[in-house]
Amino acid sequence: MKKHNFSAGPCILPQEVFQKASEAVLNFNNDHLSILEISHRSKPFVDVMEKARSLALELLGLEGKGYKALFLQGGASMQFLMTAYNLLENKAAYLNTGTWSDKAIKEAKLFGELVEVASSKDKNFTYIPKGYNIPTDADYFHCTSNNTIFGTQIKHFPETEVPMVCDMSSDIFSRQLDFSKFDLIYAGAQKNMGPAGTTLVVVKEEILGKVSRTIPSMLDYKVHLGKDSMFNTPAVFPVYVSMLTLEWLKNFGGIAAIEKINEQKSTLLYNEVDRNPLFAGVVATEDRSHMNTTFTLTNDSLSETFDAMCKEAGINGLNGHRSVGGYRASMYNALPVESVQVLVAVMQALEKKA
Ligand code: PMP
Repeated sequence: MKKHNFSAGPCILPQEVFQKASEAVLNFNNDHLSILEISHRSKPFVDVMEKARSLALELLGLEGKGYKALFLQGGASMQFLMTAYNLLENKAAYLNTGTWSDKAIKEAKLFGELVEVASSKDKNFTYIPKGYNIPTDADYFHCTSNNTIFGTQIKHFPETEVPMVCDMSSDIFSRQLDFSKFDLIYAGAQKNMGPAGTTLVVVKEEILGKVSRTIPSMLDYKVHLGKDSMFNTPAVFPVYVSMLTLEWLKNFGGIAAIEKINEQKSTLLYNEVDRNPLFAGVVATEDRSHMNTTFTLTNDSLSETFDAMCKEAGINGLNGHRSVGGYRASMYNALPVESVQVLVAVMQALEKKA
């Protein structure tokens, strides 16, 4: 039975990527060795790493603009502290849009003064704060482009002269942005890029080397850059699968092409959430995420029926994050429009039944 996978992450990747990845586990590069058993220093893998790094920059439109890409380990959570370790000398400015920003703030506080420029905590993170000021003497400004848990997404990034750092874990490669506005972007692979186990960091080299502290090698971006993302054994398989996904995206037409499909999917679902009296959206309309649509049932007693109907239709991963409940449909790049049509049909069938 065909499954419709709305999982928030790790999540759906293109079928073609799963196919190629599984072939490489048995016979990589037609060398009759598995990708899992070859040296990360062998030419075939070094080529994979280089291709993954250059595809990331190419798709973001950052080639030749002073940026480098790294594939590190420790998840986006490691980046919460690594960004501060490498960039925070005196003071940093953070926008608090929910759980993930909160966690980034907690780590950064270990390294210096932290200014929370705005927070949407007053309304349980159901909107994106606007009109805040970023202190011009901050070492950097940090924000989370898409709140995976609450389903909010920053649509307009602030204009600021201080370096901008962004956690794009759950919407990287999903929409067109002027990525050159950012000085450091990080994203755990397990949404739009690959399996869990590697984290993409795209950094403008000129912002590094300005803090006075000694940075342990594994946490120092300059060390990783100096070794072309091979300071230690990288997460070979996650990097390979990420490379395959980036290739798939490039062949698809890049971010511009996938953005159109992503808009189609989110419009389809939000229209139904708004139209169907049995469902209600959770977040401010203008801040709705195109990646993670959160909604609730207006009548809780229907939840068992709805859940059973979803199961019957092959829908997977629709439950909201354990901290907020309700429903969350994550519609990452590889999710076909057809899966959203199936979900909408189930929502309409529930309305007829109720
Ligand atoms: N930031 C965001 C926006 C996330 O959605 C997540 C996890 N889903 C994280 C950070 C943490 O990522 P990781 O589990 O890779 O550390």
